[in-house]
Order: sequence, then C-alpha cells, then structure tokens
Amino acid sequence: MKFADRMQRLKVETAFEMMAKARKLEAEGRKVIHLEIGEPDFDTPQNIKEAAKRALDEGQTHYSPSAGLPVHRRAIADYYSKHIGVQITPDMVVVTPGAKPIMSFAITALLNEGDECIVPDPGFPIYQSMVKFNGAIPVPVALREEDDFRLDLDELKRKVNKKTKLIIINSPHNPTGGILTREDLKAIADISAAYEIPVLSDEIYDRMIYEGRFESIAQFPGMLERTIILNGYSKTYAMTGWRVGYGIMPRPLVEHMSQLMTNINSCTCTFAQVACIEALQGPQEAVTKMVAEFKRRRDFIVNRINRIPKLSCRRPAGAFYVFVNIKKTGMDSREFTDFLLNHCHICALAGANFGAQGEGYVRFSYANTIENLSEACDRIEQALK
Ligand code: PMP
Repeated sequence: MKFADRMQRLKVETAFEMMAKARKLEAEGRKVIHLEIGEPDFDTPQNIKEAAKRALDEGQTHYSPSAGLPVHRRAIADYYSKHIGVQITPDMVVVTPGAKPIMSFAITALLNEGDECIVPDPGFPIYQSMVKFNGAIPVPVALREEDDFRLDLDELKRKVNKKTKLIIINSPHNPTGGILTREDLKAIADISAAYEIPVLSDEIYDRMIYEGRFESIAQFPGMLERTIILNGYSKTYAMTGWRVGYGIMPRPLVEHMSQLMTNINSCTCTFAQVACIEALQGPQEAVTKMVAEFKRRRDFIVNRINRIPKLSCRRPAGAFYVFVNIKKTGMDSREFTDFLLNHCHICALAGANFGAQGEGYVRFSYANTIENLSEACDRIEQALK
C-alpha cells in the first residue's frame, strides 16, 4: 500500500503512546502511577447514566440531524448564554463526537494551503498536527513560566500578518493549567478585530478554575461573530468515553461544519446527546465536588513538588495539570520522562511534546488520588537523590 503524503504530517498524541509503554511495565508486574492521563478519574454522574439508559429504552437509537438534536442544541445555547452572559441561539451550535472534531473542522473550513494559524506553545499537540495535515502553517506563540503561562502578547502582535487566518487560544490551558486574564483576552480580541481574524477558543476546561472566574473571548463586543467556542462534556462531567462535544460559532460556519459532519460522521450518538441534556440541566453537585477535590490535589502536589530538590512548579489556576520545571536535573524532558518511567514507574508527558517552549518541563496530571500523588512524589525525590 502507498500512503498519501499528508499522512506524514499527522502527529500522534503522546499520552496514548506513553500509556502503551506503561502497560508493558504493568504486564511485567510493576505498579505504575499514571500521571499522563488527560481525563478525570471520576465516574460519570449517575443521573446522566440513567438518562442515557432511559433514552435507549425509549428508542433513541437512530440517526439524528448532523448538527445535533434540536433539543440538545437549544440546551447548549441556553446553558452557554447564561454561562458567559452573551446571547447564543441554537442555530449557532454544532454537536460533534467529542470536542476534538471542532478543532479539525474549524481548521479545515478556514485555512487554505499556505495560510498561517497561531497556536499556543506549549499547547495541545493536535492543533499543530491538524493545521499541518491541512497543508497550512502553524505559527507558535510562547507561553512562559515567568508570565504564569499566559500568551506572549507582543510576540502575538509581531507574528500576526495578512496570511494569518486563525488564532487558537486555550484557557484554562493544557498542558500548563494557566489561564488568560480579562486583559489578555481583550488584547487578543483587539488583534482579531483589527485583522479580522477568527479565534478558535478552546474552553474545554472552563469549569475547572480554582482562582478567579471563567471568561470567554466571545464576551467582548463583536467577538461572537469571529469566535468558534470549543467545549464538551469530556472533562466537566467525566464523560471522556461518551464522545460528545460541541462548537458555538457564526451561522455561516455552522453550515460548513454540518456538511463536514454529514460527510464524516453522519451525526453524533443520539442517546448520548439526550443524556448530555441531563448533564447541562440536571444537578451540578458532582461537578462542584470534583472541582473541589481537584483543588485539594493541586495544592497538595504543588506544595510537595516544590519541596523536591531540582524540581519546581507554579500553582496553576485551572485544568488538572502541573507543568513542572525540570531544568535543574540536567536532563531534557524526554530523558526525564524515560527516567521517571524506568526508575520510578511513573508515567508522565515530556514538555517537548507540546512544542519547543515546553522543553525543560514535564506535565503531571493530578487526576489521581492523593495517595498515588504522594507516593509518586516520594519515588521521584528518592530517585533524584
Ligand atoms: N482540547 C483540549 C485542550 C484537551 O485537552 C482535550 C482533551 N484532552 C480536548 C480538547 C478534546 O476533548 P474531547 O475528549 O471532548 O474530544
């Protein structure tokens, strides 16, 4: 078989690769602590599961409209209007199998070959991968530790030009847990307006904020016409395996995304969408409890890591990751994650996998128990001695 050239431009998500390496060690009988995983270690709340079961029994087992069930699109529009205080209508919503397709669909719909797309560095690796896959050019803009991993706005201004056709932002941010301030968002909105560049705002961690409150770039005047919000149920409701996400965007783009859905997926799982309405409209205690627990773990791991000689980290305001500075160990980030796996049986992700600026860091997910986080830090401290 001969494969198309574009396949060489597709990158993988290293979390899945690292997990496979860890599984091998586990098959040999080692107890591996998993800090690589980007998903909550909680179960989907019972009321959502019950809603899915009811939907199955009621026969919600057929195809549904490509853009999503009308009742679901309405539920998302109502929820998000309240969430960010901006009027969103159901015809601005597209439902997809997980939130990830919103990324690739937006990139496919907006970028021609040779166009440029601003991506955060470090950042979610799929942004760069999909930009390249579509023959466009990712233009990384740095997020630095000394700025609490906020986007370098001067660099953004320097790198935007008439070839820039999309700016991707992500707050709270994977892999650093950093959040953009209102002033940052305002400055990005101003650039977007001045150059008429759409913004893809990845808001998947919007409910996981431990200090301050969530702000969306879509809240700034005129930005709803230029913003594609990406969000979904995977993180907030611990539903990574359900595969339901959505985008909120200007109506003309909805048409194109619906066509992409028709061509690629037909529709998103119908009974899962019914359960997602319950997620949005039912009790939210499970989310509140999970976020409180993440905050407790964040404080635990940040304090513990900063007591390990040669390691340090900031106290991130959101998501469930810490981006640990490993520069004093003398290892690069891939050497360090290999060291962690082989000497400590800890699985983590090298910062370099998230972009050039991620070198010198590793990402730990604290979607794990305090006992395991504690044990992991003990093992690392011992091994570094
Ligand atoms: N955006 C970011 C920043 C993520 O970390 C993830 C999941 N790892 C996604 C989007 C994709 O979410 P989903 O599982 O709903 O496709």
